Amino acid sequence: SQKLLVLGVPVDLQDDYGGLAKRRVSDRQGAHIVTLNAEMAIQAQQDPKLAQLITNAELVIPDGAGIVLYGRARGKEIQRCPGIELAEELIQAAIEHQWRVFLIGGAPDVIEAVLQNWQAKFAGDGKELPIAGYHHGYFDAEQEQLICAQIKQTQPDLILVGLGVPRQEFWIQSQRRLCPNATWIGVGGSFDIWSG
Ligand code: UDP
Repeated sequence: SQKLLVLGVPVDLQDDYGGLAKRRVSDRQGAHIVTLNAEMAIQAQQDPKLAQLITNAELVIPDGAGIVLYGRARGKEIQRCPGIELAEELIQAAIEHQWRVFLIGGAPDVIEAVLQNWQAKFAGDGKELPIAGYHHGYFDAEQEQLICAQIKQTQPDLILVGLGVPRQEFWIQSQRRLCPNATWIGVGGSFDIWSG
């Protein structure tokens, strides 16, 4: 697809990021979706490993207004796609299609509240959000091993990781092989917002 280079990292130029992301999940071909904002692009400029990771991601979405302004200043047609909205669209589709979801990140009470809010807000008509597993984001090495084993065992369709940038992206990169057919997406501080 057409790309926009922002400080050396490529952003995908598409008109339906939600549709693309949903197709990724249903195809079960495996993907790392990065939602890029200006802060992250600047971090990537100073961190070649992060830049490489973003370059290798299957889908890079313009999350921030700064990215959109940058693109438009270069004559590109580019629509902003807030990561939090994309993730919500995926969660609604997960309920509709019964995709199994795994959540990692946020404080212990936060992640519990997110699950309750989503069930109340999106589920209904006999349809619940299929949760393959979840864990808060303040795990030690031993808990991390358990989380990884659970991901490997349950093979979810969609994995949301909210550990902050860039840690969540490196975590996804190093754990992807445990569940290569899932779509993995870093959601930053979104669990905090969904918990409220
Ligand atoms: N977080 C976590 N484990 C950690 C550190 C942070 O789960 O060890 C979570 C934190 O609770 C918050 C998110 O990661 O939900 C980071 O949010 P922030 O807004 O700082 O990140 P950004 O969106 O800037 O990446």
